Amino acid sequence: MNAEYAKELDKKDILSKYKAEFYLPKHLYYEANGLGPMSRRSEKTLKRVAEEWKTQLVNGWFSGKIPWFYYPERIAAMESSLAGAHDKELVIIGGTTTNIHSLISAFYQPEGSKTKIVCDTQIFCSDRYALEAQIRLKGYDPEKELILAGGPEPLIDEDDIIRKMDENTALAFLPSVVHSTGQLLDMERLTHEASKRNIVIGFDLSHSIGVVPHKLHDWGADFGVWCNYKYLNGGLGCPATIFIHEKNFGISPAMPGWHGYVKEKQFQKLAHFEAETGAGGWQHGSPLILNIAPLEGSLDMILEAGIDAIRKKSLGMTEYFMSLVDERLSKYGVRILTPRQAHKRGGHVTLLHSASDEITEFLDSGSVVTDKLKASVKAKLAQNTEPTGKNQIRISFSPLFMSYEDVWQTADNLRKLLIF
Ligand SMILES: *Cc1c(COP(=O)(O)O)cnc(C)c1O
Repeated sequence: MNAEYAKELDKKDILSKYKAEFYLPKHLYYEANGLGPMSRRSEKTLKRVAEEWKTQLVNGWFSGKIPWFYYPERIAAMESSLAGAHDKELVIIGGTTTNIHSLISAFYQPEGSKTKIVCDTQIFCSDRYALEAQIRLKGYDPEKELILAGGPEPLIDEDDIIRKMDENTALAFLPSVVHSTGQLLDMERLTHEASKRNIVIGFDLSHSIGVVPHKLHDWGADFGVWCNYKYLNGGLGCPATIFIHEKNFGISPAMPGWHGYVKEKQFQKLAHFEAETGAGGWQHGSPLILNIAPLEGSLDMILEAGIDAIRKKSLGMTEYFMSLVDERLSKYGVRILTPRQAHKRGGHVTLLHSASDEITEFLDSGSVVTDKLKASVKAKLAQNTEPTGKNQIRISFSPLFMSYEDVWQTADNLRKLLIF
């Protein structure tokens, strides 16, 4: 395989035009799964909302192009096709971790011997802190009640999760794509198995929203949560999104505040809380309008590009990258941890190499081969040849701002670092 093949793939790529919409560093950027870059459309919507503040002040609540009063619901509704949700099931609010607290607080109702929460062994640290704290708040011991399922390997064994969802389980909280390994879980199956056992189930879509399609409503997931600054490029500080399945609209929000009040009556400032129907009722105080604004522009672009085209290209890029690794990098000790099957992959690929720290530093710093890095890689290779499951290198290929040639270049850069 050579760069010509990548160029051929780029010629057929219907999403190639979007790269020009982004502000990108000179070097290749692999962290769409960490912090997506700013697009011109995001800049435009941010400037528009800032201008509304400047010129309309408090009237912006109702006179803004999209009135601020409805902004968290309206922008969340733009995500309905990405999440597979009804508009009313979504709202933009808080941060991912804050929302996990608020959702678990309401959805985790231990009763009798049904007290356990099942999560995965690879659970993101912040999600775990929140689950443990919520278990403690209900008067239980997280050491006993939080069940880490999925088996001993970094790749999750879904059958193990299903086995651990037993009669003592009150709730399961799982990722869509596992942040460390790039593994995509079968959310439909897991939801089905949870429902069969009368277990409440929620998902953290932080690593899949905007790059993998979902059908949260049809699957019947109870709730969901995700951040908007990764593949959705909403910018750091952009509030997160929550999904409340329609069947759970009767559940009282855990952290009520006046912005979750029945819309028409909110400004009557009545004494007793009455939640708006749907996810909107889960809002608390004044929404972070300026922080949501960049997301509006980014979602406009993502919806125009279409999630199916995005997913198709994402899979094309990760598959191409894995074949380049097999062909050109495996001889230098690079292994692939992410599952090979398309339906088990998200948007990033996790590699294993004994010099994983050096390789990550190399990628982050613009893929410049230095003598120091080379020497360090060489020393690592001399110590141990086979990497462990901890020697992970995560590489995200954004379908919106990366080309197949970029994928080829990535593999070639790695080869230059690893060849001796
Ligand atoms: C990115 C990410 C978060 C981020 O949490 P914040 O509260 O937004 O900082 C949480 N959970 C997972 C699984 C993530 O991937």
